[in-house]
Amino acid sequence: MATKRILSGMRPTGKLHLGHLVGALENWVSLQSAYLNYHLIADYHALTTDLESSELENNSLEMVIDWLSAGIDPNKSILFRHSQIKEHAELHLIFSMLITTSRLERNPTLKEQVRDLSIENISYGHLGYPVLQSADILLYKGEVVPVGDDQLPHLEITRDIARKFNNQYGKVFPEAEPLITKFSRLPGLDGGQKMSKSLNNTILISDNPENVITKMKSAVTDPLKIKRNDPGRPDVCTVFTYHTKFNTNEEKEIRGGCESGSLGCVECKLKCAAAVSNSIAPIVEKRIQLEKSPATIWDILYDGETKARKVAEQTMQEVRSKMKLGILK
Ligand code: ATP
Ligand code: MG
Repeated sequence: MATKRILSGMRPTGKLHLGHLVGALENWVSLQSAYLNYHLIADYHALTTDLESSELENNSLEMVIDWLSAGIDPNKSILFRHSQIKEHAELHLIFSMLITTSRLERNPTLKEQVRDLSIENISYGHLGYPVLQSADILLYKGEVVPVGDDQLPHLEITRDIARKFNNQYGKVFPEAEPLITKFSRLPGLDGGQKMSKSLNNTILISDNPENVITKMKSAVTDPLKIKRNDPGRPDVCTVFTYHTKFNTNEEKEIRGGCESGSLGCVECKLKCAAAVSNSIAPIVEKRIQLEKSPATIWDILYDGETKARKVAEQTMQEVRSKMKLGILK
């Protein structure tokens, strides 16, 4: 019986991309049997960068379809929206007393987001993103958190908060450990540091082969390889990074061809597009089936939220008891 708990979530801001897949989702799938997995749809967190909420429900549905298509099994993993379990808001409030604003202002992930999205005035809730995330993780006593590397600073904050709570009121929470993959920051098609929805540099895990080709053709490669026969530098090329993940069989040959100049970028991109499409083909196929039955997805969430709520209520009782905050006698 699996007992160690995994907790990890994603913001429902649209369909998932390859970064989500290789940075987190693949790990979730492969760890389903060895751990007890809780996966949350961080719909409140989506409000940090976009107050428009009318698409949240639909985006949540699309994201769960992506999760299931990629191999998440609802019989093994518990799936839920944090907005449906009020204990998240309650624990977030208590945790917000256990961390200083200067600590939150130093958060490098926040600074990156402010820069990338040109945010001029940050909201109180956005500053507190990692505090709500700490509540998300610790309500379920998550011990292992499989995430991309942009989340590591948030995990440090989660550990600090757990430590502070345990020292102040008595032990309730574990110190959650991150688990990252080899591709914990997949670069975007624009050659930028991170594939990201908001940067519009993504390939979706639901993209069909034609779309993958079109997008791959736009990818930025080694700027010094101008003509077909110029020797290239695979180590600075985004497309080569994708080969190292999705086309391991041909990786060596592609490196050789690029470095010698015998392989041009167009051909290299087409090979890469084919390899990516090949890898995501089972996801695309399964998605077509799942899209036909949204009612099933809502049932899965209803079931997951019922299970998650029970655990969250128990943890909050423990918290209230340790803090001597009016437990009903
Ligand atoms: P986007 O940056 O595309 O808007 P996001 O960062 O808002 O997406 P999150 O819900 O914060 O999406 O991320 C979900 C998970 O996917 C996190 O664990 C995050 O670290 C991981 N992730 C997102 N983008 C990448 C990437 N390019 N490479 C690796 N992991 C990633
Ligand atoms: Mg993010």
